[in-house]
Order: sequence, then C-alpha cells, then structure tokens
Amino acid sequence: MRAQPKASHFINGVYVEDTAGTPIDIVYPANGELIGRVHSATPSIIDQALAAAQAAQKAWARTSATQRGRILRKAADMIRERNRELSTLETLDTGKPLQETLVADATSGADALEYFGGLAASITGEYIPLGDDFVYTIREPLGVCVGIGAWNYPTQIACWKGAPALACGNAVIFKPSETTPLCALKIAEILIEAGLPVGLYNVVQGLGDVGSALVSDPRVDKVSLTGSVPTGKKVYAAAGAGVKHVTMELGGKSPLLVFDDADVEDSVGGAMLGNFYSSGQVCSNGTRVFVQDGILPKFLDRLAARTSAIRLGDPMDEETQMGPMVTEAQMDKVLAYIEIGKAEGARLVTGGKRAMGKNGFYIEPTVFADVTDDMRIAREEIFGPVMCVLSFSEEGEAIARANDTEFGLSAGVFTKDLTRAHRVIAELEAGSCWINTYNLAPVEAPFGGVKQSGVGRENSKAAIEHYTQLKSVYVAMGSVEAPY
Ligand code: NAD
Repeated sequence: MRAQPKASHFINGVYVEDTAGTPIDIVYPANGELIGRVHSATPSIIDQALAAAQAAQKAWARTSATQRGRILRKAADMIRERNRELSTLETLDTGKPLQETLVADATSGADALEYFGGLAASITGEYIPLGDDFVYTIREPLGVCVGIGAWNYPTQIACWKGAPALACGNAVIFKPSETTPLCALKIAEILIEAGLPVGLYNVVQGLGDVGSALVSDPRVDKVSLTGSVPTGKKVYAAAGAGVKHVTMELGGKSPLLVFDDADVEDSVGGAMLGNFYSSGQVCSNGTRVFVQDGILPKFLDRLAARTSAIRLGDPMDEETQMGPMVTEAQMDKVLAYIEIGKAEGARLVTGGKRAMGKNGFYIEPTVFADVTDDMRIAREEIFGPVMCVLSFSEEGEAIARANDTEFGLSAGVFTKDLTRAHRVIAELEAGSCWINTYNLAPVEAPFGGVKQSGVGRENSKAAIEHYTQLKSVYVAMGSVEAPY
C-alpha cells in the first residue's frame, strides 16, 4: 500500500518539495509498513509559506464575505463527494477504522466549511449611538493564522482551524502533526479546486521545530494549537512573546459520572464511546468513569461483556470497530501505563495486552476497576483505550473528586434525574459537557477546555471571536470642543 503525496508541502496553490528537510516516514499503523515519506520544512519553505500567506490575505479580506462563504461551501460539497477517498486516506494516516473515518472525519471537516461558509456574510460590526455622535465597529480579520495539529483527527483539525479563519478573511498556514502528514494536503488541494485564491491555505510539514519557527515569526498574527499540555505551554509562551492571538486545544483527563438511577446500557455505551472510539486517542475522552455504588456491579458486568466483544481488526474492513494505536511509540506508552495500573493495584477487568500479532500497533480495549484518585492512571492523560472505573457514594464527593485535576476539557453525567444532571454539570470544571451521552462535537456547539486544557473555543459562533479583532470608530457630528 502506498500513499505517497505529490510533494511534502502545499504553498501558493501548488505542491512544493525541498528534500534538504529532515525525512519523515509515513507508517501505516495497522501493519507497520512504510507507505510514504515527506520532508520537514526548511527555513526556505517556511519563508515561502509565510510570504504567500501574507501576499494573499489583504485581497481575500476585501473579497465579499458572501463570495468567501460560497467557496468554503463548495469545498464542503467536494469533500462530501470524495468522502470515501478521503476517509481511506485518513485511515492510512491514523489507522482508525473506516467504520469511523467514513462518518467522523472528512464529514466533520465538511460540516465546519459549510457552517463557517454560511456564517461568513453575517460577520459584522455594530452601530453604537451616542446622542448626535456615534461609534461603529468593524470586525476585521487578524491576518496570517498558523494552525498546528495533533495526529488523532488530521482532516478534522485541518478544517476546524481553516474554515473559521478563512471565513473571517485570514490566510492560513497549517502544520499537521509529523505523524499524520497526508490529509491536510488533500484539504488544501480541494480548497483550491473550489476556487480559493492561491496562498490562503498553505500546508507545511515538520516536527516541533517547524511549528516553533512559525509561532515566533513576526509575520504571524495568530496561533491555534491542538496538542498536549506541555506543548501548549511552550507555544502559548512563544506566542505571548510576540503578543499574538492564541487558541489552545489541549489534553484532558475528563470525568464521566454515572449515578445509580442511570440507564445501564446507555451509560455503559457512553463510557465505551468516551474511551474506545479512535482507540481511545480522543482529547475529550471521559477516562475517569465515576460510578455510584448501587449501579457499579451491573455497570461493570455489562461493560466487561460489551468491551470484550469489540471487534479489533483490519481498519479497511468496515466491520472492524477498533484499529491500532497511531504509532509504535504511542502503543508502548499506553502498554506502559497498563503495567503502571496493575502495579498500583488497580483491578484489570478486561483487556490489557497487545493484540493482532507483532506488526500492527494494536492494544485490547482495557478496563481497570477499583481505581483510586491518587493512581497515576487516574491522573495522567494516557491517550489510549484504557478506561479507569472509580466508585463513589455521594454526589458532592463525586463532584469534588472529578474536579481534582489540572485538566478541564470535558465532563459527562448519566442520570435520569434532570435536576441533578444540570446541578452537577454546573459544578464540574470543564468546557465541553454532556448529559446522558458522551463525546458528540457538532460544529454548532463551542468546543474547548478550561484550566490547563485550553484557551479559546473552536466551532460555533464563538470561533469568530478568535479569528477577528474589533476596530471601533468614533464619528463626531459636531465641532470639536477643545479647552485650549
Ligand atoms: P503534541 O503536543 O506532541 O504535538 C502537537 C503538535 O505540536 C504537533 O504538530 C507537533 O509537531 C507540534 N509541536 C511540538 N512542539 C512544538 C513547539 N515547541 N512549537 C510548535 N509546535 C510544536 O501532541 P500530539 O501527541 O500530536 O497529540 C496528542 C495530544 O493532543 C493529546 O494531549 C490530546 O489530548 C491533544 N488533543 C487535544 C484536542 C483538543 O481539541 N483539545 C484534540 C486532539 C488532541
């Protein structure tokens, strides 16, 4: 299987190569085979991308917003038409099963382009009357926006950052994760085919040093990162040094609270979706599942039965429900956490081992019970298919323990008591929350974290705030009354 792109980078509407950059191997996680190679951006490539973005942005900002929106909506339609091809590429890039990528990746990217394309023309300022005088505001683009992606949702992240930025009149340079370089190149190609003027959506490959060079370049006005908390701290500090706008979508260790009155099958299903989708490589996963004493035995019974029935296998087989981890290194990290969990005294209910032979990077979906708050598996982000079940007896206790973390990305509650559901959600320190479901992230809803999980919001009308700035204009209708 090969998935070699035409060249490593996409700048000013064309593929560009510079083989002087460090080679980055593209490995298919399901069998460990090399499927392509790209090169990390050299200083010359970074410069070309920045120059292209800067040159194109001003004219794009002057293009009517309706026209900008039309191009984005056309790109959304093209992505949907090519969903199978793009989903196959996403599967090659990440190892996520086609069963998921066909419904959750390119389609989610298309939703973002359609949503922000539709919103573009209603991005306006306001009129503020002051007696005879008045103020009006202009919502202006920021200029050149850099997007830096994680490897778990490469197509989605390329679109979630690109769509609102372009709708608002900005130019974009996107650096995918070095682990998943393929999908963003296709999004760049499609945007050009849909009519986007060249230079407005550029893709450069590279490791952290390329991201770092982009973040600190004075031509860049805004940085949006999806990544881990340690990277977020570095990128936030570097952007701060240049007083740049930032959006930070970082990691989590989110709580999911299951009360005694919850529906057993629904809460087990929610917990499984919130731990095993994409082999557990989802930032908002509810990896600390707090289950009330009364429902705990039934919950664990059904969880063990349903988890051990998950179909691992070839990601290209649409019957496969779970694929491999994205890299061997990520698999090793998760397997090490499983050993830590055992050593800490957590009870392994199901899973816990590498699976599917020696070539792919598969791990069995794993459930630990009898987990306590101080265990490392309950405190650190594992980013793999490892669910920690903790028991609780009182609502207040569960809330306090759920909030006892530096993270604050997401939280969920399963209960039939509506009053309790809203009361508990109001107390949980998290940006994206669910009641009686888990991990749905439609483009219409703001997405992002509090505490160390992030700054700013993606998706929804809220994203417009993060890709524009306000100019306010005071207009005097009378003469100037100066005391001098
Ligand atoms: P990572 O932090 O290792 O890397 C993220 C990106 O940052 C990569 O493109 C990397 O090359 C780049 N980078 C690394 N160092 C940099 C630097 N100094 N300057 C600029 N760029 C730099 O994260 P990852 O392992 O790719 O992804 C997994 C992490 O992402 C998890 O913590 C997960 O929770 C998080 N994540 C968050 C969200 C969200 O929306 N909140 C979504 C997906 C993933």
